[in-house]
Amino acid sequence: MAEIWTIERILKWTESFFAQKGIESPRLDAEVLLAHLLQKERIYLYVHFDEPLEKQELAAFHDMVRRRAAHVPVAYITGEKEFMGLTFKVTPATLVPRPDTEILVQAAIDALRGMPAAADGAGPSFADIGTGSGAICLSILHTLPMCTACTVDISDEARRVAEQNADALGVRDRVAFFTGDLLAPLAERTFDAIVSNPPYIPTGDLAGLQAEVRLCEPRTALDGGADGLAFYRRLVQDAPAYLRAGGFLAMEAGIHEAGAIAALIRENPAYAADRTEIKKDYAGTDRVVLAWRNEEA
Ligand code: SAM
Ligand code: GLN
Repeated sequence: MAEIWTIERILKWTESFFAQKGIESPRLDAEVLLAHLLQKERIYLYVHFDEPLEKQELAAFHDMVRRRAAHVPVAYITGEKEFMGLTFKVTPATLVPRPDTEILVQAAIDALRGMPAAADGAGPSFADIGTGSGAICLSILHTLPMCTACTVDISDEARRVAEQNADALGVRDRVAFFTGDLLAPLAERTFDAIVSNPPYIPTGDLAGLQAEVRLCEPRTALDGGADGLAFYRRLVQDAPAYLRAGGFLAMEAGIHEAGAIAALIRENPAYAADRTEIKKDYAGTDRVVLAWRNEEA
């Protein structure tokens, strides 16, 4: 008699297969993938351990397991990632949003909330540079219903994903999408804030990244030039022309980069000398740099 593949059995098998292949969280990944396939919450799997899988389900799961074993990130297999409590569509054209980036989003939300209201009652506007899936921009818009935004990404494919996410989150009418190089597509506009999680991995470190990142995520989303700071130099230099007086620039920083970024800001007279802030991530690493444009400029 053919063996019956119950939920319990397939999870056990997949866990040990993933472990053999060097996957970091084999049990969790097996559960997330199976729950996604069955369109259920993970808890369902535990309550239905004895349920057998249908033949088509087994075939589809086999395909997911094969991809994960080849180190494709879970989020590219399920096509989605949770960020700031919201679900974002992701594809191999977009970086998978990271939990650390929530520190940047929270810092931007707090600073935007603290901004004085405009005379005409309009809410604050901001630009998100290198938007990828739109995770940063769209979660800010979702939290702050008065805000409007522009996003830029060099990748047209990423922009299409971000547009779909804006539709799904119901914020499409408050955001304009541009494809191009950093701030260039926004010429002639000014904002209350500019936020960015730019590529920041030093080129020489790319080869040492986890297989999931190195093999599957877009290099254009990661490569920050020889010292990792190439995009910060340009953003720090260019942002003041796009910021209204008193506006801020908030950027995610790579490991050991926040100090160098703060130094770039201090050297630039367009920023308020004493107001630069550095915020730490959950692991205690300096992760976000906030700088304020001079009031008189
Ligand atoms: N904001 C997303 C997030 O935090 O999940 C994605 C951040 S990812 C680290 C950097 C993004 O910058 C990528 O989507 C990449 O395509 C984009 N990018 C790279 N070079 C760029 C450039 N010169 N101008 C605009 N965007 C760029
Ligand atoms: N946080 C990403 C990583 O460590 C890098 C993203 C970036 O370059 N901004 O893989």
